Amino acid sequence: MTDAAEPLDRAKAAKPVPKPGILDIHAYVPGKAKADGVENPIKLSANENILGSSPKAREAFVSAADEMQVYPDSRTGILRDAIAQRFRLEPERLIFGCGSDEVFALLNQAFLEPGDNIVQGEYGFAAFAIGAHACQAQVKLAREPGYRIDVDEMLKTVDDRTRLMFLANPGNPTGTWIPFSEVLRLHAALPPSVILVLDGAYSEFATDPAFQDGLDFARGTDNIVVTHTFSKLHGLAALRVGWGYAPAEIAAAVDRIRLPFNTSIAGQRAAVAALADDDFQARSIAHVDQWRAWLAQQLGGLGLEIAGPSATNFVLAGFPRTAGKTAGDADDFLSARGLLTRRVLNYGLPDHLRITIGLEEHNRAVVDALSAFMKA
Ligand SMILES: *Cc1c(COP(=O)(O)O)cnc(C)c1O
Repeated sequence: MTDAAEPLDRAKAAKPVPKPGILDIHAYVPGKAKADGVENPIKLSANENILGSSPKAREAFVSAADEMQVYPDSRTGILRDAIAQRFRLEPERLIFGCGSDEVFALLNQAFLEPGDNIVQGEYGFAAFAIGAHACQAQVKLAREPGYRIDVDEMLKTVDDRTRLMFLANPGNPTGTWIPFSEVLRLHAALPPSVILVLDGAYSEFATDPAFQDGLDFARGTDNIVVTHTFSKLHGLAALRVGWGYAPAEIAAAVDRIRLPFNTSIAGQRAAVAALADDDFQARSIAHVDQWRAWLAQQLGGLGLEIAGPSATNFVLAGFPRTAGKTAGDADDFLSARGLLTRRVLNYGLPDHLRITIGLEEHNRAVVDALSAFMKA
């Protein structure tokens, strides 16, 4: 943190100065979508759904084209009802946002005063911290030994200024997960004044029976918010639809500060259709399930260290320093061949690349390219 300007200094400044802390924030860096000199690169840098999106969602999206002049339903009613029904949740406990990113931001805004803090894993998703810093709150990081959330480390990091704890399970960029028994142990030891946010952005890809997203358990608690998104499994990242299931009081608090029309008609309709398309969801999960095991095994065979096992639609690959092959060089090597992966320097992981599971030919191309890179 740089020295924060006093309010007096800001009043006397020659030009407007943002409030303290804002300029210390590292703006979110999205995954690369372009490579110099390569036409139609393969984007494996943002964990999007490689199968695209549901044809039914596309149809619903197109249907909204005739109503672009109309404000969307501020309650996100059709999607609220669809989600409430599908997951047997109380409709009024749902929060909608411009992606789940906005749900995180709203929670931060409603619960953080300057000097408060949030707790997250040391490799925790960047969007959590950006919103907290914007509220002039601190971000406290809990160690993640072996690239995995450690419940005791998370609990140790809590103090009396902690208002929220963010836990992406499975995590991004690590891809790792913790069993629900561990989440329960975490919740039981957490002060009841702290909100536990269980970010389930990748939860559908976590197929181990010891995993749960927490929706069922959250029903009976006063301090758990479970979030989900249409950006990953459902392949609707462009439409920006996310949601949270919160205790009624938290949902009501957030509802006071959200922008009135924060989900679009096209987004609402496409999400309703996507939610009902079980076939597309099942195909997406089966594809990821098959290829992430293959990719992890192949990359491991090249001498890379794969965090995991991954329960997401990507793998985190570590380049051992001893091999003299760096993640940065590998990223350049892949980019030059039209394969876009994600560097994760901003997560304190300079020796890793995050690679989204692609179609068969993409995955094979990644392995072939990295094999050539490691041998070169
Ligand atoms: C992609 C992702 C999200 C979802 O973001 P949206 O704003 O809903 O697109 C949430 N959490 C994590 C950890 C993610 O990787």
